[in-house]
Amino acid sequence: MDILSQRIKRLPASATLTMAAKARELKNKGIDVIGLSLGEPDFNTPEFIKDAAIKAVNDNYNSYSPVDGYLELKESICRKFKRDNNLNYSTSQIVVSTGAKQSIANLCMVLLNPGDEVILPAPYWVSYSAIVNLAEAKSIILPSKIENNFKVTPNQIESAINSKTKLIMFNSPNNPSGTVYSEKEFREIAEVLKKYPDIYILSDEIYEHINFGLTHFSIATIPELYDRTVTVNGVAKAFAMTGWRIGYIGAPEWISKACNKIQGQITSGANCIAQRATITALDAPVEKIKYMIDEFNSRKILIIKLLRSISGFKVNDPDGAFYVFPDISYFFGKKIGDTAIKNSTDFSLFLLEEAHVATVTGEAFGNNNCIRISYAASESNIIEAIKRIKKVLNKI
Ligand code: GLU
Repeated sequence: MDILSQRIKRLPASATLTMAAKARELKNKGIDVIGLSLGEPDFNTPEFIKDAAIKAVNDNYNSYSPVDGYLELKESICRKFKRDNNLNYSTSQIVVSTGAKQSIANLCMVLLNPGDEVILPAPYWVSYSAIVNLAEAKSIILPSKIENNFKVTPNQIESAINSKTKLIMFNSPNNPSGTVYSEKEFREIAEVLKKYPDIYILSDEIYEHINFGLTHFSIATIPELYDRTVTVNGVAKAFAMTGWRIGYIGAPEWISKACNKIQGQITSGANCIAQRATITALDAPVEKIKYMIDEFNSRKILIIKLLRSISGFKVNDPDGAFYVFPDISYFFGKKIGDTAIKNSTDFSLFLLEEAHVATVTGEAFGNNNCIRISYAASESNIIEAIKRIKKVLNKI
């Protein structure tokens, strides 16, 4: 519609949510689709968290909460940051939002001016570039290679920096590649960033606990960067609470105040019952959710082994999150049955239509050679999905 704003016209739809909707549509038509598109734990929210929510309902937590979240929740977030990340934040530096996605949107809206540049190491989560676009800033994409486990180098970052650079977004463990940057790698990157005091850092740590090898490192612990880093986290992934919609930031106070202001005009405080349940989730020892992490790890081992048995797939071994990001560029320029494959979007759609397996095109994440496969699915679904993919690729 021509009447719609320029803003919405230039905004791409979220590829992850679009693919999930497509898969749902096919399922509703009775087609047995295996959904490996959405990054969403297939576990139920743990009982002790559900009990806290039920108690909150019975305790009549039904009124608006403060815009930036209940004080008790912000205190619990401060304890979490100290305990897990060695980060000291006071409650005035915390803003609770309706999911980490809103936390990121708040930050971009309050920090970016039209024409500012934002460095996105690719592959990056779909919504980063879309939110940057909404803020009328420009995404500067840094490519990476599967051979290098999809990591960008400090030199690459430095060569992308200019006087317009305002923000850089890190996401470790990474969606869509599962890549985890080590402390050493972050410290090397920090050496570059220390030279540019006008650049702000967003560290999206939503997959922090889904880490199978390296120790998680928060870049805000580097003293020279603390005052210009915003640490984003939430409960969706680690606690199987995607639909509860609770994300939060720890930030310099002037940024948290600005985020509070914008949130106050757009959504107000996050859902009050979910906030109360989040206090219980964050105060619980991390051991309580270890069964889910262990399960993700065994599924990762399984899916890597199976994907490596498909000829034409290049697969690395990621350290975290619950995604693999195989390079499928071998199939470009080939015809599979009647379908000509030109890029990752063609390939992902082909898998949906012919194998009834939903994945997400790498194009949406800034890498057109790959597709994202979420293994937040049962082992039997993973096995069946790979069997189907192999079968349709045999038509080549
Ligand atoms: N973050 C998840 C994903 O990447 C959920 C969907 C979304 O918000 O993008 O699949």
